[in-house]
Amino acid sequence: MANDPSETEIENMRLLCENVLQKVRDYYGMGVKVNSLSTPSLIPKVGGSTTSDHCKGFAADIEIPGIANADLAQWIADNCEFRQLILEFYTVGVPDSGWVHVSFNPADNKKQVLTATKQNGKTVYLPGLVA
Ligand SMILES: [Zn+2]
Repeated sequence: MANDPSETEIENMRLLCENVLQKVRDYYGMGVKVNSLSTPSLIPKVGGSTTSDHCKGFAADIEIPGIANADLAQWIADNCEFRQLILEFYTVGVPDSGWVHVSFNPADNKKQVLTATKQNGKTVYLPGLVA
């Protein structure tokens, strides 16, 4: 499967790493587990959405082993520039449940913060960090 991101995508990934992932790593003093760092050329072939930030090459789904995803999301919200931050499917009391989605776009860093959760089997996005 071909994975050949454009120069813009590579630049956006570099900015995401520099402005979010590296800061998180420096603060927590341990590696960030990146579960998805995607490019348009790859996403459609693995069945992902073609409209999400992952497809523009500047979003990542991350976790840090041993750190509650709610705490990680809160720290990013307080300390980083980003376009969108989503605490995804976190269960209170289960620190490693869910994950944190974060995207970076130098032209559109509006710092939107959301919590994704399931209600009646459907994914809903609530404003802010709800945990
Ligand atoms: Zn994501």
